[in-house]
Amino acid sequence: MAPPRRREVFDVCVIGTGAGGGVMIDELTRAGMSVVALERGPRLAHADFMAHDELTNIIRGTGFAPKLKETLRRSETETAQPRHFSMIGQCVGGSNVHWGAMSWRLRPDEFKALSQDGPVEGASLADWPVDAAEMAPWYDKAEATYGVAGGAVHNALRPGRRYPNPPHPPRSGSQVFDRAVRKLGYTPFPTPIAVNSRPYRNRAGCTNSGMCVMFGCPVDAKASPIAVGLPRALATGRLDLRPQALVHELAIDETGRIRAARYLDAAGAQHEVRARQFVLAGGSLGSAHLLLMSRSGRFRDGLANGSGLVGRNLMYHVLPAVYYRHETVTRGWLGPVSGQAIDDLHASDPARGFVRGAVITESYPATPIVYASSAGGLWGAALKDYLRQFNHVHALIGIGEDLPVHGNRVDLDPTHKDESGLPVWRITHAHHANDLKLKAYYEGKMREIATAAGAERSWVVDMTQGSTGHFMGTCRMGTDPEKSVLDRWCRSHEVNNLWVVDGGCFPTSGGYNPTLTIVANAYRVANRFVREARRLNLR
Ligand SMILES: Cc1cc2nc3c(=O)[nH]c(=O)nc-3n(C[C@H](O)[C@H](O)[C@H](O)COP(=O)(O)OP(=O)(O)OC[C@H]3O[C@@H](n4cnc5c(N)ncnc54)[C@H](O)[C@@H]3O)c2cc1C
Ligand code: SF4
Repeated sequence: MAPPRRREVFDVCVIGTGAGGGVMIDELTRAGMSVVALERGPRLAHADFMAHDELTNIIRGTGFAPKLKETLRRSETETAQPRHFSMIGQCVGGSNVHWGAMSWRLRPDEFKALSQDGPVEGASLADWPVDAAEMAPWYDKAEATYGVAGGAVHNALRPGRRYPNPPHPPRSGSQVFDRAVRKLGYTPFPTPIAVNSRPYRNRAGCTNSGMCVMFGCPVDAKASPIAVGLPRALATGRLDLRPQALVHELAIDETGRIRAARYLDAAGAQHEVRARQFVLAGGSLGSAHLLLMSRSGRFRDGLANGSGLVGRNLMYHVLPAVYYRHETVTRGWLGPVSGQAIDDLHASDPARGFVRGAVITESYPATPIVYASSAGGLWGAALKDYLRQFNHVHALIGIGEDLPVHGNRVDLDPTHKDESGLPVWRITHAHHANDLKLKAYYEGKMREIATAAGAERSWVVDMTQGSTGHFMGTCRMGTDPEKSVLDRWCRSHEVNNLWVVDGGCFPTSGGYNPTLTIVANAYRVANRFVREARRLNLR
C-alpha cells in the first residue's frame, strides 16, 4: 500500500525516529499500516560517519544536534542558564545512532523499586506496571534484532541463554580489568554490546575502525534504527519519512483526540499532517517538550497533563567513574565502548547506607583531543609527558540507579527561544542524597579495582555536572491516572490516540544503560498496538 498523499490521513504518525520510534515504525509498517515519521533532525549518510571529528561531535556537540538549545538549573529557585548539556542525537535514528551500544536487561527488582526499597524521603519511587517476566520475550526480540554480542558466563538475567553474537575479543584494558577483579573475588564477563562481533543479518561485523561512542557507524555493525528497522520499513513502501520536520504542536479536535501534528520544515515553512493514531517518541526531553507546547483550552497545562506529571521525575543515572594509569597500553578510545563488566555489587543493600545499585564497566576514557584539552595549562616537557600517558589511561565507569525526584523536570523556559521562536526546554535537576552516597561507594570500589590492577595512580572523575546522554522519566507509566501519564501500554490515560514510546515512560531508571529496555518495551507496545488495531479497538 502506498503512503497517503500529503492531504490524506495516515494510519499512524510517529514523531521521533530514535530507539523507541524506530521500533514502532518498523513494526507498524510491517503490520500493513501507513506511517508518516516526522524527525526534527537530518538524515545522515554513512559518509557522514567516516570523519572522526572530535571537535564537532564531542567538544562542540554540534555533530548530532546542531540546532539544540536548552537551559539548565539545579533548583526551581534559580534562573536557568543556556548551556549545551544533553548529548542527544537529533537526526534520523536519534541518539541511538551515536550511542555506545551497551545493552542490558533490567534486574527483576529494578521493575519494583518502590516495593523493595520504598518509600524514600524526597524521592518519588514507583513500581513499573510490568515485570521482568512480561518483558523477557521482548528483551529476547530486542537482543536478536540488535544482534547483541556477549558471553555465556553472565547472566542471572537470561539464565542458560546465549547472546545472538559471541563476545568481541578482549582488548588489553579488558584483560587488565579481568585479572584485577578476579583477585578481588568478583566474576567478570564480557559487556553485552549491540555491535556485531561477526557479520549478522545482513550487517557487517565490527571492523574496530576507530572511535565508536559519540560517532555513527560507517558499516552498520553498531545497531540503531538506521541500520536495522528503518531500511526494512522503507522497503515496505508504507513509510513516508520526513527528516527536518520539527513538530511544535499536536492539535486536538472537539472530542479531545489528536487530529494533526503541526511541524516546521528546514526552511521554516509550516505543515500539518493528519493521522488516526499518534506515537510520540521524541526522547524523554523532546516528548515532554512537545506535550507541554501543545496547550489548548481543553489541556491548559499541556496535552495529556491532567496529572501534572508531564516533564517530571526526569532521571539521568549517576555515573561513578575512576580512571587509572597503568603500564599496559590500552587504546580504550578505539572500537566498542566497553569490553568487560562486573555485577557482583549491584543488588540493593540498605546496609550500605543507600538503596539501589550499579553495574561497573571497564570502559573508554577520553578521545585524543578531549584528553589533550584537559592538560590544564601544561607546557613544554610537562605537556609532552602528559600526552605520552594517553594510551595508558584505563577507565572504570558505573551506571548507577538515580532516584526519581518530583522537582527534577523538563519544562518550557519562560525566556529563551530557539531559532524558530519556540520556547527551549528547561532542565531542572539535582541529584538526591541517595545518588551521591551510591556514587561515593562505587568510586571507592573502583579505586580498589585500580589498586588490584597495579595502577600507578588512580583518580575519581566527576561526571555528575558535565553532560549526559541518558534521559529517562518525564512521562512515567503506571496504573493510576493521578500518579502517571501513561497506562501500562504507554498509551495516554487522557488522550485516546496518543502513545509515548521512548525513555520517557520509565518510572525508575535501573542501574544499567537504558536503551535495550526502551527497545524491548517498544516491541511490547507495538505488539499490543497491532493486536488492538486488528480488533478494531483503536478509536
Ligand atoms: C554518547 C552516548 C552514548 C550512549 N551510550 C549508550 C549505551 O552504551 N547503552 C545504552 O543503553 N544507551 C546509551 N545511550 C543512550 C541512548 O542513546 C538513549 O537511551 C536512546 O537513544 C533513547 O531513545 P529514545 O527513543 O528515548 O530517544 P532518541 O533515540 O534520542 O530519539 C528521539 C528522536 O526524536 C526526535 N525528536 C524529538 N523531538 C522532536 C520533535 N518535536 N519533532 C520531531 N522530532 C523530534 C529527536 O531528534 C530524536 O531523533 C547513549 C547516549 C549517548 C548520547
Ligand atoms: S568500532 Fe565497530 S561498531 Fe564502532 S563505529 Fe567502528 S566499525 Fe562501527
